[in-house]
Amino acid sequence: MNAPNTDIVIVGGGVIGNSIAYHLARRRRQVLVVERSGVAVSPAASWASAGGVRRQGRHPAEAMLAIEAIERWRILEQELQADLHYRQGGNLLLAESDTEANQLSEFVHRQQEVGFVDVRLVDRNEALALVPGLNERVVAGSYSPSDGQADPVLTTRAFASAAQRFGAIYRPPPLSSPWMNHRGMKAAFLFGVEWARHFHFCSSQKEHLSSSFARLQQKSVAVGSLA
Ligand SMILES: Cc1cc2nc3c(=O)[nH]c(=O)nc-3n(C[C@H](O)[C@H](O)[C@H](O)COP(=O)(O)OP(=O)(O)OC[C@H]3O[C@@H](n4cnc5c(N)ncnc54)[C@H](O)[C@@H]3O)c2cc1C
Repeated sequence: MNAPNTDIVIVGGGVIGNSIAYHLARRRRQVLVVERSGVAVSPAASWASAGGVRRQGRHPAEAMLAIEAIERWRILEQELQADLHYRQGGNLLLAESDTEANQLSEFVHRQQEVGFVDVRLVDRNEALALVPGLNERVVAGSYSPSDGQADPVLTTRAFASAAQRFGAIYRPPPLSSPWMNHRGMKAAFLFGVEWARHFHFCSSQKEHLSSSFARLQQKSVAVGSLA
């Protein structure tokens, strides 16, 4: 492996790693993504996920990000030049008793307070109009019309393809297996330390690896995560 001009090494090519790779490559950074398997293949989380693109129910700290993300989703297919199967079909939470309906009413109020102003309480009839065939116990719902779905595999691969169009390089780890145990850390150093100024760990061992790596190498290290 020879990438003498690499600015940033990203470990893990899930949706987080590929999104970071795309945004950095677009800014003319030389990016190397190290992915041990394939982009969005089993058992990666970006392969297995349900595909919800949702605001309602988010932690208040994520509210502004979620609002801006929905605006971005509207143009993302065009930007990435890919079909992501994105559709804004709404998101509906259901109450099956008066107690749950009261809780949902308070929930809707909180959603509006954090900025999700189009989230509203719907009665049984409106819920049925939105989703015909709901069971007879449903009495109310919290409806968020701007929410929706996208295909996580297509989205993850679209970020990877777009990153590569901007020059990002994708490689398997330098050692066969396992490169990220104590022996593998050495491999990370070996193929990164000479020429990469920044590392992003976007794999399952990210917290452990990034702290060890930063301590040992005094490099700039970031951890990618949706949570
Ligand atoms: C469109 C979309 C919709 C979503 N909807 C939902 C939803 O409805 N509900 C929900 O809960 N979540 C949802 N998610 C989030 C999803 O479930 C995961 O949280 C997210 O995909 C995690 O991405 P990741 O990049 O952190 O991890 P991963 O997808 O797991 O990627 C990590 C990558 O790192 C690689 N890797 C691991 N270790 C190493 C190593 N040592 N060396 C090299 N490579 C390594 C793996 O092979 C893998 O490819 C959605 C995601 C998307 C894209």
